[in-house]
Amino acid sequence: MTTEMNGLLIGCGFFSGNHLHGWADVEGARIAAVCDRDADRARGAAETFGIPAWHQDAAVLGSGAFDFVDICTTMDTHEALIAQAVDAGVPVIVQKPFAPDIETCLRIEAHARAAGVPVMVHENFRFQKIFRRLKEILDSGEIGETTFARLSWRNDIDVYSNQPYLLKTERFMIMDVGIHMLDLARFLMGDAADVTCLNQSVRPGLAGEDAATILLRHDSAATTIVDVSYAAHRHPNPFPQTLGEIEGRDGTVQILEGEILRIHSGGATRDEAIAADTRGWTSAPWTQIQDSVPRTEQHFVDALRSGAEFETSAQSSLQTYALAEAAYRSAASGRLIHIADLM
Ligand code: NAD
Repeated sequence: MTTEMNGLLIGCGFFSGNHLHGWADVEGARIAAVCDRDADRARGAAETFGIPAWHQDAAVLGSGAFDFVDICTTMDTHEALIAQAVDAGVPVIVQKPFAPDIETCLRIEAHARAAGVPVMVHENFRFQKIFRRLKEILDSGEIGETTFARLSWRNDIDVYSNQPYLLKTERFMIMDVGIHMLDLARFLMGDAADVTCLNQSVRPGLAGEDAATILLRHDSAATTIVDVSYAAHRHPNPFPQTLGEIEGRDGTVQILEGEILRIHSGGATRDEAIAADTRGWTSAPWTQIQDSVPRTEQHFVDALRSGAEFETSAQSSLQTYALAEAAYRSAASGRLIHIADLM
């Protein structure tokens, strides 16, 4: 039996419960301590999840007690926390958004690479079961070379109650949800070179955009449309489903409500229903997202143990965050932005 790796989780706020439940489902690792500068939150998380120790200061990273750190704080804190981990030689998994702009992402990645410390971005959408299956279908060649994708996230879930900081976030929707779609676009369609984008602030009083329409040109010459909105009223509310389609030279896969993939190929159509695993701790409507968290964490642990590259390593994620940066610059300037000019 392999010994379990000991992790420190930093940030015991809204989303951290999913991380902590998730770690309990992961093989080969456990959370040995939690940390939050808010003592009540740190103590509360330790008590709720039966974790032996809690701390208020991330300086505990230097104690030598941890094989990895899971950073579940908002993006403005990531550069300083990752630097502390890297300087202590502790491998990192850090929640999306990696950082608020591409310059900060580049600095974080360069610092980690120079120190030889592995860093992975916790990007869980590509680990949803439905997108693992969709990728398998694309890789099988069933619909031929891909030419077009649309990835759409439109709902009116009240994110503002659980995550009030989003009301004041200037780079809001593209960083909060668009980044998941941009990573999915890269996962399913490959890297992209050019970006245009239009942003909207639909709900009054926001510091940033709550809707965006992004157009990507992939290196393969395929195009992807990403459209995201937290101001789209539908009943029933499709949260948290990503919908859309992928077209290839020989067929199409539609991503439909109810976690259904409809595959059109060879003159026929078939549906595959891909349900997230139900775990004891998941609950609707969050199940699909919650289920992807331990899958993401397991990938981190497996790659750390084997020495394999993380799918969403800091280095690879630079491409994703360059797309987000390009989207903001396009929206501000009205121009097409070339990724090569940002890196
Ligand atoms: P939150 O504000 O509720 O919690 C963050 C916690 O981190 C707070 O308790 C804060 O005190 C603590 N913290 C901040 N800086 C710290 C430091 N230097 N040392 C110790 N503690 C510190 O935030 P949240 O809503 O839980 O979101 C955290 C991250 O998770 C965000 O980046 C968000 O975008 C992401 N998120 C991801 C998903 C997903 O599906 N991947 C879903 C929701 C949220």
